[in-house]
Amino acid sequence: MHSEMAGTCADVLVVAELFGPTLQGEGPSAGRLASFIRLSGCNLSCNWCDTPWTWRWSDHDRAAEQHPMDVSHVLTWARSQSAALYVITGGEPLLQVRAVTVLASELIGMGARVEIETNGTIIPPASLCRERVTFNVSPKLANADLTARRRIKPAALSSLAASGRAVFKFVVTDPGDLEEIAELEQAHDLRPIWVMPEGTSSATVAAGIRDLADAVVARGWNLTPRLHVLAWENTRGR
Ligand code: SF4
Repeated sequence: MHSEMAGTCADVLVVAELFGPTLQGEGPSAGRLASFIRLSGCNLSCNWCDTPWTWRWSDHDRAAEQHPMDVSHVLTWARSQSAALYVITGGEPLLQVRAVTVLASELIGMGARVEIETNGTIIPPASLCRERVTFNVSPKLANADLTARRRIKPAALSSLAASGRAVFKFVVTDPGDLEEIAELEQAHDLRPIWVMPEGTSSATVAAGIRDLADAVVARGWNLTPRLHVLAWENTRGR
């Protein structure tokens, strides 16, 4: 059954991969059963990116990694998953905001909840800031090795913060990064804050959790593991 926002043949998503059921590994829903729609393409180029096959064409085969699909095709797959939670991630999914809005509307119509994982550089439309949609916003710190001008977009952060539908999740490579998060929290009124250790091995993630826990609690923030890495290491599609 299609809603009034039902897709048209113009609603094509460039998909990197569809996978599930698995566990949401990060943020407030860590541990929840979920299915993932990973979109291709990104407007940043973080040096520690754990999904370079969505954008880094210098060492990944674009033709093999990008799969244009009608929204209706993605929805057929989603119905076969019967998930309570769908995570739309990337890459940067808001680069495809028109089709993402249609997709999210249809997933909600199926009774599901939707989490959109975004780097916080793009303002989402009001039609996407709705009940049953949460934005897991991951603004990048200096550790991503990008200029501040490129990775921090004040208008987008403020808009997401004001939407009431966002949480802010920061990838930390060193406990010293926490001060930079505090500055962003204050400058853009970001809350709630989640801190996540960087790492694509269970040993690195576990060590990061131990290094960060006391300092995160002391600041009144939340700490998230990368549960999928603890469970399955760096296996793609988990
Ligand atoms: S924003 Fe995300 S997907 Fe894009 S380069 Fe950074 S870590 Fe990778």
